[in-house]
Amino acid sequence: MMTSAANDTPATDSVAEPLAVGSASTDSVDCARCGKPAVLCVCAGIEPLAVKTRVLILQHPQEQDRALGTARLTALRLDNAVLKIGLSWPSLSKALGRTVDPQQWAVLYLGSAKAAELAPGQEIVLLNKKGEAEAHQGAALRDLEGIILLDGTWSQAKALWWRNAWMLKCRRLILGPLKPSRYGKLRREPRKDGLSTIESAAMVLSRLERRPEVEVALMETFEQLLEKYRTAKKITPGFDRTNGPSKGERFRRAQAMRKRRKNA
Ligand SMILES: [Zn+2]
Repeated sequence: MMTSAANDTPATDSVAEPLAVGSASTDSVDCARCGKPAVLCVCAGIEPLAVKTRVLILQHPQEQDRALGTARLTALRLDNAVLKIGLSWPSLSKALGRTVDPQQWAVLYLGSAKAAELAPGQEIVLLNKKGEAEAHQGAALRDLEGIILLDGTWSQAKALWWRNAWMLKCRRLILGPLKPSRYGKLRREPRKDGLSTIESAAMVLSRLERRPEVEVALMETFEQLLEKYRTAKKITPGFDRTNGPSKGERFRRAQAMRKRRKNA
């Protein structure tokens, strides 16, 4: 939930990379490149893939899934990607640091439009800024200069959408993934469309550029991260701390604290 004072940060507030890694400390040292605890680092040796489509990832400042978040990993994996952390930017050009035409960009849309209803059989559908499906999907998709991905929980991504009115000038992409996210049950707060940032990027880029190998490469990185996470959970006691204590755990701790106070 978004209740902190950070919500009232002025429009231009944004933090450029590298992001300071969270205060939820672990015993392991964080990788300076991907920001993950060393046991979860999969960035060693990965080379950025050359893609034609530009990618702008906007990450909500309170996105704190340090263990399983994939925004930074996605940015590292692609040579054309920019990661910005913040709540709002005055325009797409300001967010990117250069002048662009928002009509040539599409934001991965969070609205209720269903890909299957708008374009049966399509995994990815391009809508105009009014939210109507483009008539010539193939050509319109090929002409896109870049895509915008909103990184965070469902409510954080929604906040980014509402706080950046310029997104209404962009076109919109909706996904109808044929397969569920590989996150499975690992994540407590999945996005509504169910896909992680790296999975969304993999799906969109491979379809836009007709290069299945882009999806294969990004998914390989994601699978490595999930594998390391599962292993770490198995062998490291209390490992889940990197993900923040669960609701049940927070409740248990609060109760224990009250009990101690009572008895003191
Ligand atoms: Zn790393």
